[in-house]
Amino acid sequence: MSTTWHVLGAGSLGTLWAARLARAGLPVTLILRDQARLARYRTTPGLTLIEQGHAQSYPVSAQTSDSPEPIDRLLVACKAYDAPGAVAQLARRLTPNAEVILLQNGLGSQDAVAAQLPQARCIFASSTEGAFRQSDGSVVFAGHGFTWLGDTTHPTAPLWLDDLEAAGIPHQWSTDILTRLWRKLALNCAINPLTVLYQCRNGGLQQHQCEVATLCTELAELLEYCGQPAAAQDLQTEVARVIQATAANFSSMYQDVASGRRTEIRYLLGHACQAALRHRLSLPHLQQLHVRLAGYLDARGLPSD
Ligand code: NAP
Repeated sequence: MSTTWHVLGAGSLGTLWAARLARAGLPVTLILRDQARLARYRTTPGLTLIEQGHAQSYPVSAQTSDSPEPIDRLLVACKAYDAPGAVAQLARRLTPNAEVILLQNGLGSQDAVAAQLPQARCIFASSTEGAFRQSDGSVVFAGHGFTWLGDTTHPTAPLWLDDLEAAGIPHQWSTDILTRLWRKLALNCAINPLTVLYQCRNGGLQQHQCEVATLCTELAELLEYCGQPAAAQDLQTEVARVIQATAANFSSMYQDVASGRRTEIRYLLGHACQAALRHRLSLPHLQQLHVRLAGYLDARGLPSD
């Protein structure tokens, strides 16, 4: 009998993972925020995933954190700012050898979760897959991509990667997951905040090349200080490549702000600035960008941390 995948958070990424695992015949249980969400979910045919315009529903079972069922494997698919609190509510249900897979973008939330669960194996993930929720609760699989998974304390890959294979989730075990997360964080810091401040698509940053280049220089310096020289390599070239390749797209942070949703600033630019402070590193442009973005969010009534 396969181990059940408990999926915490049935949002975009949670639905994308849960639907594919369930489709492969693997046992999946959703953990929803509260009884009201659970009652509403039970009026639906299950999770609905839209792929290439085709909607399919998956009748995945669901519960709240109050359920007494033990958890051996937990996939955390909340936003970074929700993850530590949401996992804390489940700590008593985790079995002694539980494994916790963390899908959060940025850095900081993974360590906060791991610190709460010294007995569990925490696996960090970095994904380039893309999904978004429609107003009716269904989720659109918008961008095919890849997910790297790794454990900063233990290099051995878990056996359940076979489940991901069976579910058709493109993935690879990574022995340098922190380097991948730092690299993605740096790309994100160089692009996303400026798209919010200039109110532009990614391609609009081609008009602000000097500013982007200065940020890349400071971010590369930070990565070196944080012991991540590989993540610093050719950062500016890659940032320019991403801006060009995604010129027509609005960044995820831009979309969050445009929809009045909280951003993950604290785990991206906030984490970078905190790390600089810890290393007593002066990165004036990065710090000024953080102040500008926080001010912009404040002015719109959105959390700036
Ligand atoms: P999302 O659509 O907002 O989904 C988050 C889900 O977590 C929501 O359904 C939310 O429930 C749920 N949640 C929050 N607190 C909870 C709690 N205490 N108990 C149960 N459920 C709870 O977010 P997302 O886009 O999937 O992003 C999740 C993470 O993946 C983020 O760190 C993001 O940066 C990262 N990521 C996302 C993508 C993507 O394409 N979406 C790609 C790569 C990485 P409610 O609906 O009740 O609020």
